[in-house]
Amino acid sequence: MNCFYHSTSPAVGLCKHCQRGLCPECAAVIDDVLACKHRHEDAVQKQEQLSARNLFQSKRVASAYHRNAIFYGLVGALFTGFGALQYRFLGLQAVFFIMIGFLLLYAASANYFEGRKHK
Ligand SMILES: [Zn+2]
Ligand SMILES: [Zn+2]
Repeated sequence: MNCFYHSTSPAVGLCKHCQRGLCPECAAVIDDVLACKHRHEDAVQKQEQLSARNLFQSKRVASAYHRNAIFYGLVGALFTGFGALQYRFLGLQAVFFIMIGFLLLYAASANYFEGRKHK
């Protein structure tokens, strides 16, 4: 493949914005990616900033899921433990607590796995 702008020069890479071949003379390097010099430098720079921000956001989403997982896990363990301890005194009511506890533990693990997806 040759440079889009100089049909006789071999291309060293593609512009991230327009996917055209670029020779060393036409290529501008922005954050490890190439752009058409003086043509798409700004566009590629904006694109790169956007994807960096997305990465940042997905990390924040993951930590929110992990926080939820810890919270649900703790409350779930509390309910389950309380239900198990009080079972002799409360009977069916204790079973109700244990069920809520298991539901929360389930929510905790769901949040945990969802958080891992966003890493
Ligand atoms: Zn370009
Ligand atoms: Zn060129």
